Amino acid sequence: MNIAITAHDSKKELMVQFCIAYCGILSRHNLCATGTTGKMVGEATGLNITRFMAGTQGGDQQIASRISCNEIDLLLFFRDPISSKSNEVNEATLLRLCDVYNIPVATNIATAEALIHALENGDLDWRDIVNPKK
Ligand code: PGA
Repeated sequence: MNIAITAHDSKKELMVQFCIAYCGILSRHNLCATGTTGKMVGEATGLNITRFMAGTQGGDQQIASRISCNEIDLLLFFRDPISSKSNEVNEATLLRLCDVYNIPVATNIATAEALIHALENGDLDWRDIVNPKK
């Protein structure tokens, strides 16, 4: 599966801890991330992560375009619902496209844990059937 990772600044450390905890599972999948999040997670875990631009420099849109091209199967996007306002339009587009293409998406760690267990159990394998890779 192709997994995209991004996190607002105040949630990046939480994303790092999440990826450390689930490093074994994540290492069996293709990972991509916005620039800063990918750098932090990569350095902390040693996971091989394709890094896009920083979110505010177009990284969110790079993930969005890959969703449109059926190249992302799961999005982990830890949002700060209280203070982050910088990139709201692009982030809304990203989440909208997840709904357009039925991409499982977690915007908080509780949902991310549920999805990562679903991933490990094979419960997301339907994506390969519904959206076979070209
Ligand atoms: P970053 O992008 O990982 O490059 O910081 C995410 C964001 O802008 O919140």
